[in-house]
Amino acid sequence: MEYFDFHTHKRPEPGSRNQLFSAEPEAIATTAELLYSLENHPWRPRRVDDRYQQAATYENVPLIGEIGLDFSRGDNPALQKEVFQEMLRLARREGKPVMIHSVGATGPVEDFLRKYDFPCVVYHGFAGKESRLREFLRRKILVTLGFRGVAKFQVTAADLPHIGLETDDDPRPIEALYALAAQRWGIPEAELAAAMKDNFLRLTGLRRD
Ligand SMILES: [Zn+2]
Repeated sequence: MEYFDFHTHKRPEPGSRNQLFSAEPEAIATTAELLYSLENHPWRPRRVDDRYQQAATYENVPLIGEIGLDFSRGDNPALQKEVFQEMLRLARREGKPVMIHSVGATGPVEDFLRKYDFPCVVYHGFAGKESRLREFLRRKILVTLGFRGVAKFQVTAADLPHIGLETDDDPRPIEALYALAAQRWGIPEAELAAAMKDNFLRLTGLRRD
């Protein structure tokens, strides 16, 4: 069985393309044959400079994020908003989907996504309100869940086309998260794995349909 990790901060083995490694431009190499998402984290917002502009164009950077707003941490909400918008503009220019980190900021995040008319969005590490999760799934927004989200929400087979699994900064392996999700949701692990593979390949543009 193949395991896909939609968002991790742990550097994958060289040549491994089953993870989206969330990294800042300095950590991104086009030679390592990894898949990256170009991160500008709201906890440490950085002005979008040439390094960001360049890294956003790489073929092995299919996704921009995590980016977003976090009003529970980080002491500069005004800078967070500016940087978030700069990153959204960059993603639009490259035609790449964005992965969102949002804590206590769903309203403003949604406003910015609307303002830039964003077509493809992933909410990562979601562990908020059940009603919000249901709303995202109805709108066909991909929501990626880590250990907390998997334990918190009851996901059905019908939800799977809009669900991803991620280890984020948890030291446990992705295999453990698949096992937990299969058991908690009562979905055979093979069925879960097939859906995750589909979603991952679609998101990263490795397969278009
Ligand atoms: Zn993360």
